[in-house]
Amino acid sequence: MKLKRRGFLGGFNRFRLMLTLGLAVVLPAAALIYVNFSQLRTFERDKVLEAAIHRDFQEVLAITEKNINKKAYAMTEDVRNLFPSPDADDQEKEKALDDILVKSPWLTHVFLFDDKSLVLRTQPYQMSNKYIREEHEHMADSYYKWFDIEGKMMVEGMHKKTRPINFYPGPAKRADGEAYVTTAIFVLPQLSKDRVVLGGAMFDSCYLAKTFFPEMLEESATQKMNDQGGNPLAMIIYPADMEMAHEIKPLAASRGWVEGKPEVSRKMDDVFRGQMLGIKYQGTSVEALGQTWVHRSFLILGFLSLMIIGGLVLTKHIVSKEMALARLKSDFVSNVSHELRTPLALIRLYAETLELGRITTQEKKQQYYRIIRKESERLTALINNILDFSRIEAGHKEYEFRNTDIAELVRNTLESYRYQIEQQGFAFEESIDSNLPAVPVDREAIARALVNLVNNALKYSRDEKFLGVKLYRENSVVKLEVADHGIGIARRDQLKIFEKFYRAGDPLVHNTKGSGLGLSLVRHITHAHGGEIAVESTPGKGSKFTLSLPLHHKDQRI
Ligand code: ADP
Repeated sequence: MKLKRRGFLGGFNRFRLMLTLGLAVVLPAAALIYVNFSQLRTFERDKVLEAAIHRDFQEVLAITEKNINKKAYAMTEDVRNLFPSPDADDQEKEKALDDILVKSPWLTHVFLFDDKSLVLRTQPYQMSNKYIREEHEHMADSYYKWFDIEGKMMVEGMHKKTRPINFYPGPAKRADGEAYVTTAIFVLPQLSKDRVVLGGAMFDSCYLAKTFFPEMLEESATQKMNDQGGNPLAMIIYPADMEMAHEIKPLAASRGWVEGKPEVSRKMDDVFRGQMLGIKYQGTSVEALGQTWVHRSFLILGFLSLMIIGGLVLTKHIVSKEMALARLKSDFVSNVSHELRTPLALIRLYAETLELGRITTQEKKQQYYRIIRKESERLTALINNILDFSRIEAGHKEYEFRNTDIAELVRNTLESYRYQIEQQGFAFEESIDSNLPAVPVDREAIARALVNLVNNALKYSRDEKFLGVKLYRENSVVKLEVADHGIGIARRDQLKIFEKFYRAGDPLVHNTKGSGLGLSLVRHITHAHGGEIAVESTPGKGSKFTLSLPLHHKDQRI
């Protein structure tokens, strides 16, 4: 019945533990690890990170284009505000336009059209350039015709826009080949809407390629870096017709650009039509970055998974240990109740027999009295152990240290056992040094430790019955040795036997009554005296327990 109940409890606890570990910890942990792994794999397969970076790049390009256009509009607006009235005479107009060219070295030509004439001025220092001169002549010739025909429509169209400016980007011939320029054409401020008057300014190709674009690209790239950190960016502007080309020759680039193709491009519109904006990382590609990220994530996840698994193993280990302790405790309860019952039954049996007066011989009576005394002593020892143990567990155990003649204490304690020892057929060897100095000890506790050790020696001996007790001094330590030639203790058990409730697996141990508390008490008592307990044992040969007590110890209370 007892066994069944214990088995059931143990099984139930184990089941509950497995269920808790399984459902509440292992399953979610495994699910978490699995979900993360598969998500990472999806990331890797679908290039999710790369797509996100591309989207981000698109956004950067859109913002860059917006800023570039804004700047171009603002510059044009400034020029527009300086334009002379169309009603001034030609000389005045020329002078005003020349002033504008001086103030705005980034312009190549400026012109003013009204229905009577087209005044066109070009940077004087550039007029020596063959291509510019030809361009000037071409414009002077064709622009009047152009505006004469289309001017009215252009003016009407412009008045409908938020900013009355049109840009006409395109190629221009220059000394070093084909260049890219854009020309702003606008209506003048503060003029009535029905007047067909147009102002215009052509941006200098050199200024655009060498100053304006590089500065804008640089600003965008660094702005993005400062906002979000991460890898430095490189940006370019290149002709749209190069999009498909094998190699791209950029019109302008930010400083970080070395070569190659951009990762993401955007067709520019309006002011700089015909050009593309491109972006990529400096020194790396989005793909490489994505791969590094995925690899790093896999590594981190792997590491965390290992930690989780380690944690689980540790938890299971600890819980198993706790469960083993719980089992030991329940063994302890059944052992103790058994141990209490046996002496009580014996005492009752012999007392009743004596009471009935059936025993006639004095010798028999003496024997019965002895049994009753012995059994009640066993009971007292057991109860003392349990009480001490519970005091220790509750942290209430107190020791009272007094300077004691330890030789006398050991001798007295053994004396009350001598009869029992010899009765059981033990050869008893006693070697007590009587010239020891007084040692600060708790008398009762040391006696209890000795009794426990002696009891164990008696309990765990089979064929060769020997008990040796030695008390001697070694330097500043008094040593108390209790030796037997009994069953001995396996090496792996030698440390554990001092733990509470622990009993070795030997069959003799199991057939012997015991609570597994004795040695844990001995150890506690020894430590309280600032001492050490050690065991030397060979299975089958015997054991020797050595209790070392310092002659002085720091927290003695005398
Ligand atoms: P108990 O004797 O009540 O089981 P103890 O704490 O005194 O508890 O001892 C713990 C265990 O140590 C014992 O169950 C036994 O296995 C082992 N042990 C103790 N002393 C000896 C000894 N002298 N010889 C062999 N085994 C011993």
